[in-house]
Amino acid sequence: LEERLTEAQRMEALGLLAGRIAHDFNNLLTPIGGYLDLVLSGEGLNDDDRSMLDECRYATERAAALVSQILTVGRQHVVAVRAVDAAAAIRSLAGLLTQIAGPGIAFRVHTPAEPPVPAVAIDPTGLEQVVVNLVTNARDACAPGGAVTVTVTVEGPLVVLSVADTGAGMDDATRQRVFEPFFTTKQGHGTGLGLATVYAIVSGAGGTIEVTSAPGQGTTFTIRLPLVDPPAEEAVESPDGSAAAGQ
Ligand code: ADP
Repeated sequence: LEERLTEAQRMEALGLLAGRIAHDFNNLLTPIGGYLDLVLSGEGLNDDDRSMLDECRYATERAAALVSQILTVGRQHVVAVRAVDAAAAIRSLAGLLTQIAGPGIAFRVHTPAEPPVPAVAIDPTGLEQVVVNLVTNARDACAPGGAVTVTVTVEGPLVVLSVADTGAGMDDATRQRVFEPFFTTKQGHGTGLGLATVYAIVSGAGGTIEVTSAPGQGTTFTIRLPLVDPPAEEAVESPDGSAAAGQ
């Protein structure tokens, strides 16, 4: 337990530090993006200049997206917690997730149709990010012919959300570091922020996340989120997006 606490504290400190840097960096990005927009909206730019400035604009947008992810990891984002039906939320993401999984991978969603899954208190955009990040990693770990399965169940006072893949799996050394900000084994194209983001969102919602994995055996991430109190029937998000309960 002592070792796990230290690890959690280390991650929290790294996240906070990164979040502070991201915050300052964001303040620098704002005028860069603003002035680029101004120059690009003007007349009299030749094609070469315009295409170079377009590249700069694109790079600024990517930097802003990265900053936003780091702010989430550092818990510096304002989150809009609501009572969310996690099963319905995931069903409505199925199209996007299937697209992320891609053509060579069997993607499935299992959610109980009846009775409705009681609500959990989470930022709905955060929940989406969690599932998208986990399915993206699962896809990356799978060879063609692999399978990725997202399951939602209810266990007592918890909603359990799992993302399982039949991919490459991980050795112990990797598994122990996956939630660490900036830890990646994807040289060149990984940021190492996906699972740190997931961890921050889940623990921010009072939940836990667990990973079981072994080389060649695939990987399962299991998230447990507490049900909202008062009970679900009075607290499910209405279809027009307004929430009946929040935190
Ligand atoms: P990134 O995807 O940018 O590398 P993440 O934080 O999402 O960052 O993941 C960190 C690392 O955890 C990955 O580089 C990979 O080594 C490992 N990992 C995450 N999910 C899986 C998975 N489903 N199967 C195997 N390895 C995984």
